[in-house]
Amino acid sequence: MKKLWRCNVCNDIHYGVKAPTICPTCGAKMAFTLIDYPESMKVIFDDGERLDEVDKLLEVWNKFAEGKPFKVNPDEVFVRTLAKGELENQKNHGLKYCPCRITTGDRFEDLALICPCNFFIQPVYKESGECWCGLFVKRD
Ligand code: SF4
Repeated sequence: MKKLWRCNVCNDIHYGVKAPTICPTCGAKMAFTLIDYPESMKVIFDDGERLDEVDKLLEVWNKFAEGKPFKVNPDEVFVRTLAKGELENQKNHGLKYCPCRITTGDRFEDLALICPCNFFIQPVYKESGECWCGLFVKRD
């Protein structure tokens, strides 16, 4: 059964049967603890300033990818389109859900669709070198 996990170092939320050994956001090892749904909502909604501009989102994505084996797709026009989609999701559905996947309407289920997701542990990333939407790509 899937559960909610939170990284003690960077507050990354993971929804899955077990927590990742290495946090996909900050790289900390064995840092995830089990949390409940109210705590996950608190982490998501109380996390400081809300990003509402494409440029700010691009800045955050680039920072997220710093020092990682992946980077933001160098096709800026494409990436800006994804950013606009994500901001639309925030406006219409309350959170920055993945711009290329469909939310179910169930907040609990949809936690796994908050961007950036844990794409790099997924087979699709290992096989194609990109996250589902192509926002993040493997570094050369
Ligand atoms: S697949 Fe890519 S764009 Fe979609 S949530 Fe994951 S990281 Fe974000």
